[in-house]
Amino acid sequence: MSEAMQPGLLIVYSGPSGVGKGTILAPYLAAHPETVLSVSVTTRAPRPGERDGIDYSFITRERFDELAAGGGLLEYAEYSGNCYGTPRAAVETQLAAGRNVLLEIEVQGAMKVRRTFPQAVFIFVLPPSYETLRERLTGRNTETAEVVERRLAAARLELSYAAQYDYVIVNDDADKARAQLDAIICASKCRTNYMQTMIDKVCEFHEYA
Ligand code: ADP
Ligand code: 5GP
Repeated sequence: MSEAMQPGLLIVYSGPSGVGKGTILAPYLAAHPETVLSVSVTTRAPRPGERDGIDYSFITRERFDELAAGGGLLEYAEYSGNCYGTPRAAVETQLAAGRNVLLEIEVQGAMKVRRTFPQAVFIFVLPPSYETLRERLTGRNTETAEVVERRLAAARLELSYAAQYDYVIVNDDADKARAQLDAIICASKCRTNYMQTMIDKVCEFHEYA
């Protein structure tokens, strides 16, 4: 069995809004076509420039409830007044095809995935300080002052979950953070729990040799 036949790695990637998750991730995904970003469904309104079906699938609350009730979501959560969820079928198909799937999700959803996919790798992006987070969130200019305050309040709770992840990346220097993301995913694909099928296969071959 070649390594290429391994199922993909599930990567859970979290951090408070404005910490720089997208900034770190975009170049990683551009350089790694074998890793795909799961497109979530959300009841939030699109921001200027966001594309339906690419950044998110923007759906109504009724449709969201239907999907959740029918088991179509791998995980879902409410964040800052809106609902977000990961469509299950797309993730399962991509993993089975050997692609790594990255879920950029908030902490409650991540903890649900922790219980159902213990073999996934969990990465948390931490700001160098809470003040830096405020500056970045304000500087991005995508939210009203009220939404920024709500997201900063949510960040306090989110930051308290950081220690429950496998890895923490401090996003002070974006290039360093990108290199760390690359290294973590690379090392995670060599973890024994991920390689178990490969190990079994080689041992089985040895027994019959
Ligand atoms: P998130 O995806 O976590 O919500 P973004 O990637 O949109 O965050 O980043 C929020 C803002 O912070 C953006 O304006 C981005 O340019 C800026 N930013 C991200 N990383 C850094 C960094 N290491 N140093 C300075 N500014 C950064
Ligand atoms: P935003 O509104 O800034 O795009 O996202 C708000 C928060 O929701 C972010 O922390 C983002 O990672 C998270 N999020 C996006 N999609 C999902 C999802 O499918 N499930 C969960 N649990 N969180 C999500």
